[in-house]
Amino acid sequence: MHPFAQLDRKFVWHPFTQMRDWLKREPVVIASGKGAVLRDVRRREYLDANSSIWTNLHGHNHPQINSAIRRQLKKIAHSSALGFANEPASLLAEQLVQAANPKFMVGRESSRAQTKIMSGLDGVSPHLDKVFFSDDGSTALEVALKLAYEVTRRKRGKKSRPKFLSLDGAYHGDTIGAVSLGHIDLFHQAYGGMLFNTDKVMSPYCYRCPFNRAQPERDDARNYRKCNWECVGKVDQKFSAQKKRGNPYGAFVFEPLMQGAAGLIPQPPGWLKRVTDIARSHGALLIADEVMTGFGRTNSKFKIKNSKPSLFACQEEFVQPDFLCMAKGLTGGYLPMAATLTTQKVFDAFLGEYEEFKTFFHGHSFTGNQLGAAASLASLELLQTKASVRQRAILQTQLQKELQSLWTLPNVGDIRQVGLVAGIELVKNWRTRAPFALRERAGIRVCEAMAKRGVLTRPVGNVIVLMPPYCTNPKQLSQMVSALADGVRELAEGL
Ligand code: PMP
Repeated sequence: MHPFAQLDRKFVWHPFTQMRDWLKREPVVIASGKGAVLRDVRRREYLDANSSIWTNLHGHNHPQINSAIRRQLKKIAHSSALGFANEPASLLAEQLVQAANPKFMVGRESSRAQTKIMSGLDGVSPHLDKVFFSDDGSTALEVALKLAYEVTRRKRGKKSRPKFLSLDGAYHGDTIGAVSLGHIDLFHQAYGGMLFNTDKVMSPYCYRCPFNRAQPERDDARNYRKCNWECVGKVDQKFSAQKKRGNPYGAFVFEPLMQGAAGLIPQPPGWLKRVTDIARSHGALLIADEVMTGFGRTNSKFKIKNSKPSLFACQEEFVQPDFLCMAKGLTGGYLPMAATLTTQKVFDAFLGEYEEFKTFFHGHSFTGNQLGAAASLASLELLQTKASVRQRAILQTQLQKELQSLWTLPNVGDIRQVGLVAGIELVKNWRTRAPFALRERAGIRVCEAMAKRGVLTRPVGNVIVLMPPYCTNPKQLSQMVSALADGVRELAEGL
């Protein structure tokens, strides 16, 4: 066994990993990476088919991001944001505000008029003006939920206890607040006693929706569903019922366009706009978790007149939240850094004399870290180049085409692609949608078979994730999809 593998097995405890299984075999020890390729200590090469757990955008070892970090390193790696400003974090905040309020969003009269009437914040149209930096997806959500809670409490009266509504199966991170917002039963069973109570509402999982009357077809379930938008009705009912209880929801928390860890669950077009309009009409703040969906990962509006390319999922449906949470791809997947963007109105609610203690009492040691901010600036610049926009459009089209070949496999039940993310749901029988029991480890087995073929990804239960870095070339993308197909065939042979 390689010495680093030995050290790992002796000392390291891996996240979301059954360590008994881990200890049974020699782990892949990554030594380097270039573009979409990861290389291990034994010089074996793999394609990074889930962009290193959904973080990487432009590929590994990107010359522009590398040199931005090097340039910053010559000046300083880190100084505290508690008491001091710094150059790259200030520049980045400006860039993020611009990216979060593209011209095509701000100029939309109907959208503005609507949000003016419906906004939870005294009729002011949300414009994201302020950036609170933190470290990762979980902390970005913690910041949003604490701010939303406090701003609502100050508005409704200090004794009020605003409640949150989020989606069934939601995952928003692993810190206690973020887990409380989530609705994955397994995690709640373990930590329920430590969590605060939030409500959940049906998410639009068309493939397994009890209201979808369509028989399974060889197509994305969103395209052939037969329903009357009952899922939207459920959201409406939930808001109305809570209002009757005299404590309307303070905030609605959601991943726009696609829920990631819930099982790569995409929303049918129009769902997001409909449900967020309902939430606003009940005075709830909107918290958009774009930790997975952000930075071009889920966008397909590439050519927008007089505007920079849209980079956030919410923008696809012209929804502007009050809190926009981002992490993973912010630095291009290089460093742990996150941001929560919010409105001037929320910011102003925390202004006061020192002794009034209206301050937002929250922060982390590495808030606004210079190396992370320098990497983020370089990544944002790359994202907005014509070449990158074009490359993303081409890759999306190719992904869509390549995925069609998987419909011939009887153990593929649903293929759902949003932009540059695809979830492939494995089933025992596509005609009945009969699922594999989790203990059969179907998803894990397929990913292990893919790894043998030089393609690395990680399943979400029985759903295989394909999320290529944007630099992935056509040959590499074909290799990813054919390894997946071979993996599913191998699974079928072993059944
Ligand atoms: N929100 C979403 C949608 C996520 O997918 C994740 C992580 N997979 C998180 C929040 C938490 O992010 P982190 O792991 O960086 O804390």
